[in-house]
Amino acid sequence: MRENQKIKCVNCDKEFDVTLDTKPFCSKRCSYIDLNNWLGEKYSIHINEDDYEKDV
Ligand SMILES: [Zn+2]
Repeated sequence: MRENQKIKCVNCDKEFDVTLDTKPFCSKRCSYIDLNNWLGEKYSIHINEDDYEKDV
């Protein structure tokens, strides 16, 4: 059984230890970056189309 297996971060391609609980990211920073990327896109589209028209 290998204990120091490495996998690649899905955000920055950096190799990191598979035992980290931040996987599939090398760090919490990368997981937040990835989350913000797709959350940010969804919310900005939603806000632009919905709230701006109803704005008083
Ligand atoms: Zn990373």
